Amino acid sequence: MSGIGPKRAEALAKLGVNQLGDLVELWPRRHRDRTRTTPIRDLIEGGTYTIVGRVRQASFNQGTGKRPTLRVLLDDGSGTISLIFFNAGWLAKKIQPGNRLAASGTVERFGRGLTMSHPDIEHLAEEQMPELGLIPIYPLTAEISQRWMSDLMKRELPTLLPEATEPLPESVRSQYSLPERTWALRHQHFPENGDQLEASRRRLVFDEFFRIGLAVHWLSGRTQEASGWIQRPDGVLAQKFVASLPFQMTAGQKTAWSEIAEDLAQPRPMARLLQGDVGSGKTVVAVLSLLAAVDGGHQAAFMAPTELLCEQHYQVLVRYLEPVGVRVGLLTGQTGSRQNLRRDLERHQIDVAVGTQALLSDQVAFDDLSVVVVDEQHRFGVRQRARLSGKAQAPDVLVMTATPIPRTMALTVFGDLEVSQIHGSPPGRSPITTIHLPYRERKQAYQAVLKAVRAGGRAYVVCPLVNENPELELHGAVELAEGMKSMGGWQVGLVHGQLTMEEKTQVMQAFREGTVNVLVATSIIEVGVDVPEATVIVIENAERFGIAQLHQLRGRVGRGTEPSTCFLLSDPRTEEGKERLKALVEHQDGLTLAELDLAIRGPGEVLGLRQHGVSGFQLARPLTDLAILEEARRAARRLLAEDPELLDPKHQALKLWMLDAIEENAVQQVLS
Ligand code: ADP
Ligand code: MG
Repeated sequence: MSGIGPKRAEALAKLGVNQLGDLVELWPRRHRDRTRTTPIRDLIEGGTYTIVGRVRQASFNQGTGKRPTLRVLLDDGSGTISLIFFNAGWLAKKIQPGNRLAASGTVERFGRGLTMSHPDIEHLAEEQMPELGLIPIYPLTAEISQRWMSDLMKRELPTLLPEATEPLPESVRSQYSLPERTWALRHQHFPENGDQLEASRRRLVFDEFFRIGLAVHWLSGRTQEASGWIQRPDGVLAQKFVASLPFQMTAGQKTAWSEIAEDLAQPRPMARLLQGDVGSGKTVVAVLSLLAAVDGGHQAAFMAPTELLCEQHYQVLVRYLEPVGVRVGLLTGQTGSRQNLRRDLERHQIDVAVGTQALLSDQVAFDDLSVVVVDEQHRFGVRQRARLSGKAQAPDVLVMTATPIPRTMALTVFGDLEVSQIHGSPPGRSPITTIHLPYRERKQAYQAVLKAVRAGGRAYVVCPLVNENPELELHGAVELAEGMKSMGGWQVGLVHGQLTMEEKTQVMQAFREGTVNVLVATSIIEVGVDVPEATVIVIENAERFGIAQLHQLRGRVGRGTEPSTCFLLSDPRTEEGKERLKALVEHQDGLTLAELDLAIRGPGEVLGLRQHGVSGFQLARPLTDLAILEEARRAARRLLAEDPELLDPKHQALKLWMLDAIEENAVQQVLS
């Protein structure tokens, strides 16, 4: 890079600038609002100001054991203020009494006087006034100063910017009232006012979303050509299955199913997320989707995260489907006769395979897998689906989750998944009463358990650990089950992750039949487990579980017609813990809880994303820029509907720009 010494070039490289052109997208971290100067007399604690004054004193205190501190007393005739800099020996040489300085920063009160710590400063000649406006603050390294960087930008951008291409076709820009990209780039660095900065940011954020959205749709368009399956969503098996159900499907189930059925009947591979609160009846919709494949003579797979849940799904499928001649197989990490199962799958002697992630392993091969349903998994991204397509020709994929995330957020995270929702839950459900008990009232919960089982019902007791931890005062399922067994009055079973599949199955079976009426468990039963007779759940050390988890656990009861109760046993020590329990006590609805969770913890945590937004985006913040995100997605979709291969000459710049994004892996980063 011309005019830049090797040391600084190295520093710039650390910031991702390897050639001058990269400067264009080295965005300011923020802008300092320096639209006017303020007399020191008028400063108010907590405000951010720019002041101009003369240095009265400058004292550098090397200190012993303390941080070396530079104190500068600035006087503008109206008053004085101390500027404080820590660890800034180098600055001490530069600031001398008599200098004229501009300083920008936030005013704090220190004892009786006002201070600014680490303000941005600028030396001024006599009579010179500081530059005013929105001043960009760039990311820096030790070798580079803010001033140097800013000068570099001012020098280089005027020649670099006109070379920037305009990827968006005129039609998109005018429809969404977006300024030209060059304009946006310039004003992201040097806006004259807040409005310009805002308009510039909107355009650039739109570009980031649009580019990724376009790439994702374009890529999935590729697989479309590879031809998906045309399923038979209304075949004989499906009809028989619906007829054999002991209930009518709810309106919510029907609507969701009709959306899915429509997708399945199209040759385009389905990629859909089914959201439905705990107990809303997602399994029925899943089974119908599986049958759409079998009715067309193809295979289907049903994946679930735990063996316990796989086992349960397997039983449901066997009960409903074997009578009508559908062959079902269970393939989990522990299934003994895996060899045979795998052979049967490959020879198409099994129509529907139920299993954990083990289904994705390389040893498992299908004859013609065409529908995959993934249960209780809200993050089954492009990458996992890619693994599936290694086993099959672009199967139709349905991902189901009860972890309720607001729809818009789902769009963000799943990128290219369509979203369906089951509204409402089956009729006749009694609401669940949630009660938070401090440990001194713990007995009350177990009395309710006893009462429930005496009346012929069932109860769960959930512990955070398999074995107790007395130091942390955490209960363990093993010890608790022992204790309860010795008391009598109930039939206690124990289930946790360290048991073998056979042991787990046996206990669950006994619990289902009622020979065991109290099931002591770890959070292994968190998702999916469905025993409608259960009416009480006691959650020990409830503060150890998150909101979504507690909501899921609570969803194990309230599945029948009897009123149910959920006891949260806890002496929460933190405010956050208290808030979480309160949220559960006050709210039943999963969506509301998800939003509260979001408010309490912040989005990064909830979605398992990095704290600072999703990687792959520079300026965009997917959770707060939702409006722009939706616009960009819509625009991308529409453009590709008009020109699927981007062959129009007007779309060539756009196509190259999109291909770059795919190459840079930005797409994978965002969506995997
Ligand atoms: P989830 O959405 O949590 O996976 P399930 O599919 O396990 O819910 O369904 C919960 C319970 O509701 C099951 O016992 C199921 O048999 C029952 N169920 C499902 N659909 C209906 C319906 N339309 N009417 C009555 N009960 C239903
Ligand atoms: Mg379920």
